[in-house]
Amino acid sequence: MFFREVLATMNRERQIALFKEQCQAKGIKLTPQRLLIYEELINSVEHPSAERIYNSLKQKFPTISLDTVYRTLDTFCEIGVATMVEGTGSSKRFEGNLDNHHHARCVKCGKIQDFYHEAYDQMPVPREIQEDFQVLRKTVHIEGLCRTCRLPSEQG
Ligand SMILES: [Zn+2]
Ligand SMILES: [Zn+2]
Repeated sequence: MFFREVLATMNRERQIALFKEQCQAKGIKLTPQRLLIYEELINSVEHPSAERIYNSLKQKFPTISLDTVYRTLDTFCEIGVATMVEGTGSSKRFEGNLDNHHHARCVKCGKIQDFYHEAYDQMPVPREIQEDFQVLRKTVHIEGLCRTCRLPSEQG
């Protein structure tokens, strides 16, 4: 199978330990809210938007605000414990999976699936790019229709 479902719980404890270390190293106070948002982020394989994280947290924690979630996610990106997923339309999407991986995005429902593919990892960067840029990250981004969104037309 080409795609591999990523188990969000796989490295969860290790990830949280690294998160705490990184907050300390960057002088970011580890508030219960920050930890909560981080856990929500790494427990999701959906590459959630700030709105999505806010919606799943506000039931249990009514004092949280959307603005806080936005600012917290930006902070996470700044200190390198999360990344923003590029090319995803209207609202920013985030993830805490920092392993080298690639994305397949459904243009209809917006689902973003992680996948691992060694040939892409090893794909060389064109020389003109290497001359102009110091390459920090290399991600292949595939757009298409997911299985669910494709079904109706395959049946009809
Ligand atoms: Zn879809
Ligand atoms: Zn991803």
